[in-house]
Amino acid sequence: MTRKVSIGGITIGGGSPVAVQSMCSTKTKDTDKTIAQIKRLEKAGCEIVRCGIPDMESAKALSVIKKKIKIPLVADIHYDYKLALASIENGADKIRINPGNIGSTDRVEAVIAAAKKKKCAVRIGVNSGSLKETSSFKLAKKSGNGRADRMVASLMEHVTFFEERGFRDIVISLKASDILTTIAAYKLAAQYTDCPAHIGITEAGTELGGIIKSSVGLGILLHDGIGDTMRVSLTAEPEKEVFAAYRILGALDIRKRGADIISCPTCARTEIDVIKLAHMVEELTMNLEKPLKIAVMGCSVNGPGEASEADIGVAGGRGIGLIFKKGVIIKRVPKKELMREFLKELNKISKRSI
Ligand code: SF4
Repeated sequence: MTRKVSIGGITIGGGSPVAVQSMCSTKTKDTDKTIAQIKRLEKAGCEIVRCGIPDMESAKALSVIKKKIKIPLVADIHYDYKLALASIENGADKIRINPGNIGSTDRVEAVIAAAKKKKCAVRIGVNSGSLKETSSFKLAKKSGNGRADRMVASLMEHVTFFEERGFRDIVISLKASDILTTIAAYKLAAQYTDCPAHIGITEAGTELGGIIKSSVGLGILLHDGIGDTMRVSLTAEPEKEVFAAYRILGALDIRKRGADIISCPTCARTEIDVIKLAHMVEELTMNLEKPLKIAVMGCSVNGPGEASEADIGVAGGRGIGLIFKKGVIIKRVPKKELMREFLKELNKISKRSI
């Protein structure tokens, strides 16, 4: 069980729902584009958003962005403690830093004092790529993975430094692009601290490869009860990260949001273009909030029966298309009308207009 940390209006840790977050790909100082992207992310279900702060102009832009968005805003800082101070001053709800790369202890202390004053949480993020080789924190237990051990020792040195100065609104992260090191590090850290964990597989890759890596890595951690907030890091539009995060949480029955598409792999019995149809349905239901199981099946022989647990589904038939609910066929329509009729039914059960 982790401690509760408040980030803007959201509580993470201590049994709160795993919060889904993403990161803007826009230049933060381009406030119009950044606000527009955050609004799209909010619509997709993003609950916390992070922006990179490469310069002072970006830090100052946070106050403008914050006024226009509904979700907590996190500032991502590298190296320059002055950017951390300016981000806190301009309303960041949380900052993400690696204290090891922002300089001398008095600079870290200045950040702690400012964060305390403004009730800004801090994510202490340790990356395997930027590790100090030695740490003053001596690990009594180890993971058996040397790199993970060094990451946790470094993390705990920072956590101890913050806590000794009376600062406890800490979230931790331990990122390595290799999954096994990431898992070993988070599992070991959970034995040393009750700070909530931000989990993610860093630089996971393109949409397909990244989702696979993140699903494996984050899935194992979440199944072991580790992870209070998560980001699926993808080389893709950030909305896809939110979509993927909910699919991972849904697959583990941790949180449900939106459409869970069940589609058949197709075979010699297929009587409709399942690949095209499944992609269309996925695209159309991307921002759906209500959890619904939606099936797209290739044939009428096995389709409705195999997908009987689906709330709604479509299947191909000889010259026609079928719409079914919980395995029961409710409509038989000409193929060219299938999508239109299906959307009508979907709007009825999702109580919104798609
Ligand atoms: S639902 Fe029909 S088309 Fe799809 S895999 Fe099963 S038998 Fe083949």
